[in-house]
Amino acid sequence: MGTRNGESMERRKDPLRRAREALGVSSGAGMEEVRRAVRRRARELHPDLRPGDPAAEERFKRLVEALGEVTAAAGRAGGREERRRGGAGRARNVVAEFEVRLGEAERGGAHELRLRVVCPECGGKGGSCPACRKRGSRTVERLVRVQVPAGARDGDVVRVAGEGAAGGGAARGDLLVRLVVRVPEGVRVEGDDVHLDLPLTVGEAWEGAGIEVPTPAGPVLVTVPPGVDPRAVLRLRERGLRRRAAGGGRRGDLLLHPLVVLPDRRDERTAVAVAGLAAGYSCAPRRMFLRVFE
Ligand SMILES: [Zn+2]
Repeated sequence: MGTRNGESMERRKDPLRRAREALGVSSGAGMEEVRRAVRRRARELHPDLRPGDPAAEERFKRLVEALGEVTAAAGRAGGREERRRGGAGRARNVVAEFEVRLGEAERGGAHELRLRVVCPECGGKGGSCPACRKRGSRTVERLVRVQVPAGARDGDVVRVAGEGAAGGGAARGDLLVRLVVRVPEGVRVEGDDVHLDLPLTVGEAWEGAGIEVPTPAGPVLVTVPPGVDPRAVLRLRERGLRRRAAGGGRRGDLLLHPLVVLPDRRDERTAVAVAGLAAGYSCAPRRMFLRVFE
């Protein structure tokens, strides 16, 4: 009896230990630290950031699996589970993470979350469980429908009732889905405000332009003045995210940061045109720069 318990305890430790080794975090790292490391690596390896890199995609999949195992282990081992009374035994809440794009979080909507859970037939005991033997694994993949509320933010938790773990004949606990909001490059969220790089050609920055700008509520036309200062910030009031913080208005602001993009063609014609620009500076652009430490 004691040996059996010892063995199953050992197995319970496995996913976390394996995750630690795969991530190269210290053997004393706690559940939360491991989860953070998995999340960080998963962001680096996300297939959207590395199109056409099958090795990265494979590592990404393994990481997502590792996170699922760690989460499932938490549900079993009690690291992050919550308990509540129910029926003959105790139902357990399970914590999972789900990544959504910024626009998806803002619009809200139904999503499907692929979750690795311990075998529902035997609760992960294995042994003589026919389902485990057939699959050759004590975990099973389940699709869970997650309703993301409109205006959701990074770190928000969505509760899916009855999708947690069952315990000893009890009703199932809940699944607590922590949202991770993925923000594209050139975008920064600050409370209800969104900062957005506004790429402009040299010509647009010089002449001014009418530019179509995406906002959470749909595109708007913005007039960029001629000779725009790249350090200026163009503030579009109430074009940001749905208001969560106290304050007036239904939305935060959208702040545009002009970003002058140089021509990428390295041909003769462009070289001549750019060389011609040098004559257009009436004073040296770095005259103050050189005196910074005076
Ligand atoms: Zn089973």
